[in-house]
Amino acid sequence: MKILCIGMNYVAHIKEFDRDFIPKSPVVFLKPDSAVLPRKNPFVIPVFSNQVDYEIEVLVKINKVGKFIDQKFAHKYYDEIGLGIDFTARDVQRQLKEKGQPWEISKGFDGSAVISEQFLPKEDFADLQNINFRLEKNGEDVQVGNTSLMIFKIDEIIAHVSQFYTLKKGDIIFTGTPSGVGPVAKGDVLQGFVENQKMIDIKVR
Ligand code: ZN
Repeated sequence: MKILCIGMNYVAHIKEFDRDFIPKSPVVFLKPDSAVLPRKNPFVIPVFSNQVDYEIEVLVKINKVGKFIDQKFAHKYYDEIGLGIDFTARDVQRQLKEKGQPWEISKGFDGSAVISEQFLPKEDFADLQNINFRLEKNGEDVQVGNTSLMIFKIDEIIAHVSQFYTLKKGDIIFTGTPSGVGPVAKGDVLQGFVENQKMIDIKVR
């Protein structure tokens, strides 16, 4: 199983990093399967970082093998929608970017991929590109998003990534984070919601 992630897919999130550039095609990176935070485990802040940010994201679970998927058939390659957190060691990412090096370790370290236990059938949604989702930190909303604000929609993402990576059953796509990303501290409680359904509930240690 692989985890494909899309960066910079919400304009307001790009702006919070003081950037004006809007990507012309999806920005893609991967996390290894070892990045998945085991169920019921707390997220432990890694020793190599002083700033780990949360990024709440809508997930898509791939249901069959596909390569060079046409955008108009992309909907046949997933049945379920989930919620995830793309933990990012922001200080490590910044240092690597400054050196012009790949920033993979800042996004792919152990525990950096929170994947909701529950996935919701896509039929539950009238419009997949109009899903409300949000992250609460210690009981307060910190990120509030709607999938209508994606620069690249789910089917465009699948068409794009499948040109480079054969998609397989069980692969997960992180579709990008809305604005409001911020750091976690020991003792924080993070709860993620799709519409009003709680999908994620984890402690930070
Ligand atoms: Zn992300």
